[in-house]
Amino acid sequence: MNPVYHQAKFINSSPDLKDTPEDQGREVAFAGRSNAGKSSAINTLTRQHGLARISKTPGRTQMLNFFEINATERFVDLPGYGYAKVPIAVKKKWHELMEKYLTQRKSLCGIVLVMDVRHPLTEFDWQMIEWCQHTGLPLHILLTKADKLNYGAAKNTLMQVQKELGDINFPLTIQLFSSLKKTGIDEVHKAIDLFFMPVDEFESEPEVE
Ligand code: GDP
Repeated sequence: MNPVYHQAKFINSSPDLKDTPEDQGREVAFAGRSNAGKSSAINTLTRQHGLARISKTPGRTQMLNFFEINATERFVDLPGYGYAKVPIAVKKKWHELMEKYLTQRKSLCGIVLVMDVRHPLTEFDWQMIEWCQHTGLPLHILLTKADKLNYGAAKNTLMQVQKELGDINFPLTIQLFSSLKKTGIDEVHKAIDLFFMPVDEFESEPEVE
């Protein structure tokens, strides 16, 4: 487990790309449909019970919420999406903000997409996957709330999602996770470590036969 993530501290919230921390270093963004379990996952990964609660305070739910890991690495909690009753204007604004952030943010080096294992690959999830495919951003998918299914059913869902995404041609990894049972944490940390690895180091990794 990488204890560096336990030092995460809230930096600020931003409704657009203007008030964001300087676009340097490396940033990993967490995305997910509302209620998928994204805040719980961030809290579990950072071992800080209240960290992502900041992103849920009124006025901040539709913002980019930034957390500092160290001088050069950050987490970003992206606004959730998916309440059917959200007005069209809010949906449009969300879409614009996400597209801008995902295409313009130079320090963005990977996305962790959180899905409820019982409802994977929603329309929102496909949108994120297509954005990552378009920009070539590496993606790590967490099928969370794995404790809600028995072992066999959870494994089945994992295999089905892997199969559905099998043809997608960009760096993509998928795993089961549970914030409640604290399972899958090491695997996510490893994926995030890889995202944060400087590009030249990444490229000089020896090929595994
Ligand atoms: P967010 O809207 O995506 O940030 O979702 P939250 O993290 O707030 O979680 C939504 C609901 O799912 C809350 O009631 C959580 O307690 C619950 N939840 C989140 N993760 C898990 C998990 O791994 N297992 C179970 N059983 N419940 C979870």
